[in-house]
Amino acid sequence: MPDSAPTSEAVRRGLILINTGPGKGKTTAALGTAMRAAGNGMRVLILQFLKGSWHYGELDAAAALNAALGSSESEAIGSEPARNFVIRQLGRGFVKVGGAQTDPEDIRLVEAAWAEAAAAILSDDWDLVVLDEINYAIGYKMLAPEAVAEVLRRKPEMVHVILTGRNAHPLLVELADTVTEMREVKHAYQRGILAQRGIEF
Ligand code: ATP
Ligand code: MG
Repeated sequence: MPDSAPTSEAVRRGLILINTGPGKGKTTAALGTAMRAAGNGMRVLILQFLKGSWHYGELDAAAALNAALGSSESEAIGSEPARNFVIRQLGRGFVKVGGAQTDPEDIRLVEAAWAEAAAAILSDDWDLVVLDEINYAIGYKMLAPEAVAEVLRRKPEMVHVILTGRNAHPLLVELADTVTEMREVKHAYQRGILAQRGIEF
């Protein structure tokens, strides 16, 4: 970290970040930030909306990192390992969407995921909460942007929240502190190259 970087408690605050846009890197940038936060001793919770059918490498990496981070803490306090880096998949993979075609089971899963996310953000148990792919759930009209905004407005001061997914809702973009739009220059998929282990999953 640069020497000049402000570090005092007085300038610390929780941020709302959004990774959106059509290019690749929204989820992976959030995972990178999550790793950075975990390395700073912060408690990180990543909740993945809609995902659930694929086994992503980050699930195993997170479990290993969580165990490694938790072990020194548990020795120090002589209790259960601290859960410092947790990823939970709260969907079932690809969703069928489109107005009345949306499967009620997918809506139920999004509602349950959002209930868990809102509770986690408001609990003060976590320093960083990542709401992965939540923008898709909102875009598919499975979750009201107003409900998300309402919770973000009354989040504990120091909690950071990252929202990912294309087409971030304007209401949430307005509310966020840092918004990054990934621009697609090119993607291997356009040449018929399918998702690659370690890069896409
Ligand atoms: P990543 O998880 O790799 O950071 P992402 O979160 O930006 O990607 P999503 O919209 O969540 O992108 O889609 C995830 C999957 O779609 C990944 O396998 C990713 O490589 C792929 N993908 C992302 N952008 C594109 C694109 N422009 N064209 C085709 N596939 C894409
Ligand atoms: Mg993603």
